[in-house]
Amino acid sequence: MQVYRLDDRGPVVVEIRDKLARLGLLPPGAASTEVFDQATDRAIRAFQQRRGLRVDGVVGMETYRALDEAHWRLGDRLLSFTAGHPYVGDDVAVLQQRLLDMGFDPGRCDGIFGKQTEGALREFQRNVGLMPDGTVGPKTLKALDMLRRTVTGGSPSELREEERLMRGSSVLAGRSVLLDPGHGGEDLGACAHELAESEVAFDLATRIEGRLGPLGVQTLLTRGADTCPDDVARATFANDTGADLLISLHTDAAQSPLPCGTATYFYGAELPHRVVSSAVGERLASLVQREIVARTDLLDCRTHPKAWQLLRMTRMPAIRLDVGYVTNAYDAARLRSPEFRDAVAEAVVAAVQRLYLPSDRDIAEGQFRMPALAG
Ligand SMILES: [Zn+2]
Repeated sequence: MQVYRLDDRGPVVVEIRDKLARLGLLPPGAASTEVFDQATDRAIRAFQQRRGLRVDGVVGMETYRALDEAHWRLGDRLLSFTAGHPYVGDDVAVLQQRLLDMGFDPGRCDGIFGKQTEGALREFQRNVGLMPDGTVGPKTLKALDMLRRTVTGGSPSELREEERLMRGSSVLAGRSVLLDPGHGGEDLGACAHELAESEVAFDLATRIEGRLGPLGVQTLLTRGADTCPDDVARATFANDTGADLLISLHTDAAQSPLPCGTATYFYGAELPHRVVSSAVGERLASLVQREIVARTDLLDCRTHPKAWQLLRMTRMPAIRLDVGYVTNAYDAARLRSPEFRDAVAEAVVAAVQRLYLPSDRDIAEGQFRMPALAG
C-alpha cells in the first residue's frame, strides 16, 4: 500500500484520522479534515508506541493493519472461527480476556480468533446452557456480560504456559526447536563491513543446530540457504511443525555507525485492557540476552516486547535475537569472527537448556559447557 505521513492529504488520511478519533487519540470530529497534520503525526506515534510497533509516525502496512484491528469493539460483528482468514481485532482480544477471566482457555490473548479460542468459546457456551455453536451472537454476548468477573492473582494464560513448561522433563532430549534465520535468497538483510545479515543469520542457525542435535533436540529451519519465505509463511510453517520454541535470528543496522549492541525480543503488546505477553517467551528472551552478554563483549540493549507478525502469529514461545549492528565497526568485527559466532550459538543453547532446568539447579550464566548440557 501507499505510505502516509506528515503533510499528506486525501481520503485515506480522513480514514486514518477517523480511526484515531475512535481510539480517543484525536478529538471527535477529526475526520472532517483530510490533512495529515502535526496532531495526526503525534497520535500515530502514540498509537505505535502503545502497540509495540516501530515509532516513526508513518502509516505503512503494519500500522494501518493495527489501526484497523484496534477499532473493533466486542459486539460490532459476529465472531466465529474461519479457517484461513481468522477474525483479528481488539474485539477478539476482549473476548479472549473474558473467557480467560472465567477460567476457560482460549490460548494466548493475541486478538486472533483461532481454533483454541473457538474451543474455549464452545466450552463456555456449554457451561451456560447455550447452543455451543462457537459463534459470538447476541445471546452469547449477553451471557458474557452477565458472567463477567475479575480474577486476581496472575493471568491464567501465563500460569498455563508455565504449567506446560514444568510438565516437560528437565532435559532437552525430545524437545524441538525451530530456528528462523532472517532474510535469505535475494533479500540479504542489512549489509555493511563485508557482512550480509542473511548469511550471518544462516550461519548462526547452523552453529546452533550443530550444538542442539547432540543433546537430543530436534532442530528445524524455516528456510534454506537461498530462500526467503515471508513472515506469514514462516509463522504458518512454525505452527505446522508444532515445535516447542521458535528462535529468530537477525542482526541490527542503523543509519549512523554509532549504535551497537545486542537485543532480544519476545511477543508482547498493549491491548485495550491490559498488556499481554508470552511469559515463557519473555523468560527465554531474558535468558538468551543474559547468556550473550555474559559470553561476549557486546553492549546490552536488553529485552523488549514486540507485536511483530512472526512473534505474534506463532503459537509456541518465540523470540527474535538482533545480535550486534553490522553498521557498527566494532560489532561487525565481532560478527565476522567464527569464535564469536560460536560463543553466540553456545549462549543460545545454554539459554534453551536453562529454560527447561528446574530452578533448584540454576547455574550462573556463562557457566554451561557442552558436557553439562547433556545432563
Ligand atoms: Zn533482519
